[in-house]
Amino acid sequence: MTTPHPTKRPTDATYLADRDTAEEPPDLPRELLNLPWIDIHNHAHTLSWDDRERYALSGCRSMMMVASGYHWTPYKPVEADDIRFLWDDAINRREAIERNHFFEAKLGLGVHTGVRIEDPDELLAAMDAYCALDEVVAVGETGVVPSQHVERWGVDEQQAVVQAQMELADDHGLPVLLHTPNTSTESKRSYRDGLGVTPGYEKNAGLGADPVLDGDNPALESVKRDVAAARDAGLPEGRVVASHADRNNTEYLMEETDCYLSYTIGHSWLVGVDAADVANAIDEYGPGRIMVDTDCANVLRTDPYALKRAIFELYRYGIDVDEIRQVVLENPREVFDFEQ
Ligand SMILES: [Zn+2]
Repeated sequence: MTTPHPTKRPTDATYLADRDTAEEPPDLPRELLNLPWIDIHNHAHTLSWDDRERYALSGCRSMMMVASGYHWTPYKPVEADDIRFLWDDAINRREAIERNHFFEAKLGLGVHTGVRIEDPDELLAAMDAYCALDEVVAVGETGVVPSQHVERWGVDEQQAVVQAQMELADDHGLPVLLHTPNTSTESKRSYRDGLGVTPGYEKNAGLGADPVLDGDNPALESVKRDVAAARDAGLPEGRVVASHADRNNTEYLMEETDCYLSYTIGHSWLVGVDAADVANAIDEYGPGRIMVDTDCANVLRTDPYALKRAIFELYRYGIDVDEIRQVVLENPREVFDFEQ
């Protein structure tokens, strides 16, 4: 028995040296350690200071903080002013966040149709001036959803609100970040009554309104309505970024549209999407229209390190360094107005 190392007793190396098939150590791409990345969808202004620091520590170069979520409006029914407050809060704090953490922080502002808003026209009228701000780099997140929180919002009305935002985006040369609904993953058993169906998500699941879309695949139907809205608005599909891309909508978006697909991996426990889905999509369709985002927010269990972890995981899954760089850095720079 050969002993390649001066260890006191045999280690794995001793046995490996005796094999014909002894493997060469892998040629690790050290550049992945310092590869900058961009998170085009998060709600980092709602996270803790420490969580934002985690973005900086793990190499986040730029991010888009999305201020459109109804989760943060305390009043129901939701009024236009409640949403305006969310926009203004993000605008007010953005610069301090950049100063504290060094990454570039831009904003996405929009009207999310996950809860019915009393007077959406008021918001749409106000949005024009917000879209003109330098720090606003996209409209969104928005997109038709099959069911609302608390109160239903008819699907045609939702689609009209989405389309109106797409028209504004087109006027201002901005992209639109779509919220696409995920098909929920099968859980092994249900939870005790009164504790909600999704622990880890600060949402009163019992207050979900009856669906406004049914049929075989309402989640996909919603995305198709969003694409129809973009076409009616004259917004080029290359400026539509479908966040929460998943196994249910990838084929449609890739094969029947020119939209970008952004895979949300910051809460895989909830939506069942992770780096393997991203790798599969790259294998099948190439990296040209793929991005990765975290959607980290304070209302659910999310991971600010998710994107950095995915960089290593994509490499392990066989994706080339150039392709990884394209999906985590170059594609976001191409579509959103981030610094070069
Ligand atoms: Zn989000």
